[in-house]
Amino acid sequence: MKVGLIYDPVYLRHDTGAHPENASRLRAVMGHLEKTGMLKRVEAIKPRPATVEEIALVHDPDYVRSVARKAENGGGWLDMDTYLSPASYEVALYAAGGVITGVEKVMEGVLSSAFALVRPPGHHAGVARASGFCIFNNVAVAARYALKKYQLKRIVVADFDVHHGNGTQDIFYQDPSILYFSTHQYPFYPGTGAVDEAGEGMGVGNIVNVPLPAMSGDDVFLRAYSEVFVPAASRFRPELVLVSAGYDAHWADSISMTQLTVGGYVQIVRLIKGVADEHCQGRMALALEGGYNTESLSACVKATLEVLMGDKEVADPMGKPSWTGKPAGADAVIQTARRIHGLE
Ligand SMILES: [Zn+2]
Repeated sequence: MKVGLIYDPVYLRHDTGAHPENASRLRAVMGHLEKTGMLKRVEAIKPRPATVEEIALVHDPDYVRSVARKAENGGGWLDMDTYLSPASYEVALYAAGGVITGVEKVMEGVLSSAFALVRPPGHHAGVARASGFCIFNNVAVAARYALKKYQLKRIVVADFDVHHGNGTQDIFYQDPSILYFSTHQYPFYPGTGAVDEAGEGMGVGNIVNVPLPAMSGDDVFLRAYSEVFVPAASRFRPELVLVSAGYDAHWADSISMTQLTVGGYVQIVRLIKGVADEHCQGRMALALEGGYNTESLSACVKATLEVLMGDKEVADPMGKPSWTGKPAGADAVIQTARRIHGLE
């Protein structure tokens, strides 16, 4: 079975001008995958748009209608940093639909795993609000879709974007069927994701935050994944693994102050894939979130696809950051996350 890459030039039509989240990101990634021969190794899959009913599995129908109307009327700002162009509503349906397409192909055994190279991103979007470049929460919509369509009981969502996925957390805060795990720089935008935000009601314990200090690098992130993510996700026994794949934690990405390398991302994706391999026949769908340095973004997406294909050697063309120490407080937060979630 092949690894799928879900992509369509429709994603370039979400026109944000000079905004950091703009169409040149996906153009750069596709150019890099083409130039390096990677496009020949993946199964190219076209996304379908999500239906309004599918979007409404997560989002308030009034909110969905208001986005559609605003786009029809020429677009504008949805919040301080989320722009809607006339085509953006339709493109956002394709972004959520791209992740759904990935889930369908993986669940139906057509692909071993899938990477949805989509925009706009999703993990900051809440039930009734756009936020942080995100219009609809693509991964949350795909998760709810998978629960319903395939009658699943347990899905793990791993989020390695440098920002906390506050939208995803809010949506699933009381949901026993989703384990949401996030590593993120903290304190940082959007301000949420403290270690003691752990879910409530039926979802208590199913939100797992590892808020990492600025300057955290490969060592710290890998401890968070091997000592918190792997035991928590394994205990949950997922039937499907979804990933909010944001590459803005790379050291070359100037939006953040974390120091991950391409090699660090490779090891993180290997650990997540290990959980999928052990518990759900490797069923895994990833969706692009952030990543604003087009060079590191392109290298990271290519490296992720190589890991999904099982490549043993994955090159890191970007190398290491100039500072590779360990920030104060990093070990303590990992320890606290382990304690709060009963992993000691
Ligand atoms: Zn981000």
